[in-house]
Amino acid sequence: MATFLRPELSNLRAYSTLTSDSLPPEVDSLDTNEFPWDLPIALKERLAQQYVSTLASHRYPDSHHWPLRQAIARYVSEHSPTAISPHQIAVGNGSDELIRSILLATAIGGYGSILVAEPTFSMYGILAQTLGIPVQRSPRDPDTFAVQIAEADTLIAQGDPPVRVLFMLQPNSPTGNPLTTAEVDWLRQLPEDILVVIDEAYFEFSGKTLVGELAAHPNWLILRTFSKAFRLAAHRVGYAIGNPEVIAVLEKVRLPYNLPTFSQVAAEVALEHRQELLAEVPTVLAERERLYERLQACPQLRVWPSVANFLFFRLQEPQHTQPLCDTLRREGTLVRAIAGGIRVTIGTPAETERFWQRLQAFLNQL
Ligand SMILES: *Cc1c(COP(=O)(O)O)cnc(C)c1O
Repeated sequence: MATFLRPELSNLRAYSTLTSDSLPPEVDSLDTNEFPWDLPIALKERLAQQYVSTLASHRYPDSHHWPLRQAIARYVSEHSPTAISPHQIAVGNGSDELIRSILLATAIGGYGSILVAEPTFSMYGILAQTLGIPVQRSPRDPDTFAVQIAEADTLIAQGDPPVRVLFMLQPNSPTGNPLTTAEVDWLRQLPEDILVVIDEAYFEFSGKTLVGELAAHPNWLILRTFSKAFRLAAHRVGYAIGNPEVIAVLEKVRLPYNLPTFSQVAAEVALEHRQELLAEVPTVLAERERLYERLQACPQLRVWPSVANFLFFRLQEPQHTQPLCDTLRREGTLVRAIAGGIRVTIGTPAETERFWQRLQAFLNQL
């Protein structure tokens, strides 16, 4: 490795995304938790119209995202007992960018470590490592995937270096479980010198949010995204909701023009039409329940309940997990092998049916 490169990066594994070269031409992408349906064509046309008629392509984007922050604040306030102001909102190039801003604002430069409870979303740890921030890993209960609080508390107490950020999810990915009452109680009593990040990427599916408690906990920050239920994964828009003081620092550490104009407008249009867009969420949830029941009836695997738009299951004989993924991929269904099991996104009814048929065929020949 070139001697000017930081040696710890040589062993770092980047977030794995699939390359398209070895895929069958028509694939069912049930590996990235996107929404199964594209934006309605009328909304795409409205966006294109705005692009043609009013967007200035020779001008830099609005670097303060103010109209979008106002629109997000109104949307978030609909699910909060107290109104959320645009000063409590920061917008990122996907919530991935916000995760990095959080790390830049808290733990980089030897100030501390982050704590994650695994299995969980891998980006927190990957981004921390790229910035030279130590990652403390605490286990989850193997049966329920709830955080093992005593172990996490031990890591916090040892504090070497001090834990500056705890990354939690509501619900967890890849396992789909919502926070338990015990977990939320634990978050409530954590010391205020730890930033508690609650990633609600799947909020529109779970209906669960801790936004109502932000006022009582200035050390909490909630992350959301337009990449899932709002169908804007191509546009890369995420946001954070929190204490204005923290939000102001997240705004300071990011790149000035982090979000293209077209993406800002896409998110505004999606919010304007949220009733229409989110009306399809129950279809996905019903499909999830149908698949859950089918998987639950399979003696060769164990599936966990989920409040998100995906399901997590493990084969009783784990050595078949990778061969199952490879077979599904060859036949045209992409799923994610992760945490000793498989995470499958709920797709259209046809995609889910093909997954189910291919899975059954595999299990029957074992
Ligand atoms: C999909 C997802 C996100 C969203 O990331 P973006 O960068 O906004 O696309 C964030 N957190 C979790 C846990 C996710 O699954």
